Amino acid sequence: MVILFSHPDCVKYSQPGHPERPYRIEATVSYLKAQKQWNDRLDWQESRNAKDEDLRLAHSDTHIQSVIEGGQGGVGFDADTPAYPNIDTHARRSVGSAIQAMECALQGKTAMSLIRPPGHHATPNRAMGFCYFNSIAIATLKAQSQPNIQKVAVLDFDVHHGNGTQDILIGKPDVMFYSLHQSPCYPGTGLKDEKNCHNFPLPPQTDPEDYRKTFTQALSEIQEWKPDLLAVSAGFDAFKEDPLSDQALEMSDFEWFGSQIRESGIPAFHVLEGGYSDRLPEVIESYLEGIDPKD
Ligand SMILES: [Zn+2]
Repeated sequence: MVILFSHPDCVKYSQPGHPERPYRIEATVSYLKAQKQWNDRLDWQESRNAKDEDLRLAHSDTHIQSVIEGGQGGVGFDADTPAYPNIDTHARRSVGSAIQAMECALQGKTAMSLIRPPGHHATPNRAMGFCYFNSIAIATLKAQSQPNIQKVAVLDFDVHHGNGTQDILIGKPDVMFYSLHQSPCYPGTGLKDEKNCHNFPLPPQTDPEDYRKTFTQALSEIQEWKPDLLAVSAGFDAFKEDPLSDQALEMSDFEWFGSQIRESGIPAFHVLEGGYSDRLPEVIESYLEGIDPKD
């Protein structure tokens, strides 16, 4: 059983031509709900908004205020990251959703946050790259305040470097960040390891076998570190049909990623980041098959 956190309101913002579009969630939710084989394997739950104190784990008050003002009709943050009406509420809900998934993992359940906007490019002080608040970093830091949780690893396989997550988590005690991403590609960071942040840049059109080997290397380093919890930034834009990257991964590779995480035995939670192709619903289905295979 996988618990999926989502919310019908997360599709209520858009801009014509923007790849981070309502379809991503709308189509995925309706596709999964229409699949008979998933009927009794998915538990849909509604995402809740994160509190200010949660946002402050990763972001400055100035940044939080700027996202709030953006949501009230302020100017945009950059060309990719518009000031949509109520974007502060939407972004706050994405954070809350990641926290809910994290809390499930602590109870031994498999959970994924299936919501937009994504978060891994949001830095302590800046919204960028379709991201406003950094859900995975906040859920990671919040997990450390829970009983029996000390060491938390973050694994980010979105095709873009999780620069915001790195900026927030760098130097933080008992946290390790691992990112696999295309280079050269947006945002241009993550070319080398820095402190507790381990980066695996991969050239365009990396052979899926080599992608898997790199994934195995990152995951085995995580296992050796023996974290209490694994936070997964699950981006599906290294898929071969994705319009925002130049990679060659098949759906079966994402199922394999999921299965490797499950087989690692580390309690894990999963948070949707990118993934922009029309086939995102099927790619996510493959990943779910990996993290929770049919008996
Ligand atoms: Zn991405």
